[in-house]
Amino acid sequence: MKDTLDLENHVTCKTHGKQIGGIVCNHLLTGHGLGFFEPEPPAPASPQAWCFKCDEVYIEEKGFTKKFEDFSYLRLICIVCYEKVKKRNFLHLI
Ligand SMILES: [Zn+2]
Ligand SMILES: [Zn+2]
Repeated sequence: MKDTLDLENHVTCKTHGKQIGGIVCNHLLTGHGLGFFEPEPPAPASPQAWCFKCDEVYIEEKGFTKKFEDFSYLRLICIVCYEKVKKRNFLHLI
């Protein structure tokens, strides 16, 4: 048994078992109502998202720089958790 991420980006979640992985910033992981920004174009392998504050840094830095990485502290979670984080943080601006 290999104990690494496989080519299809599966992760093993403590709650949901083996799932496709998604990546979110550390703020979204614990916060709510922080905004939910997915990069354009979408990441090819697994979905990625970060909060409003991270997006400001991302725009300022024009991409995945060291400063952005340090600020966002992106974490890999399972896709079920990802959807929960999305629901909790997505702002309905209507
Ligand atoms: Zn963030
Ligand atoms: Zn999960």
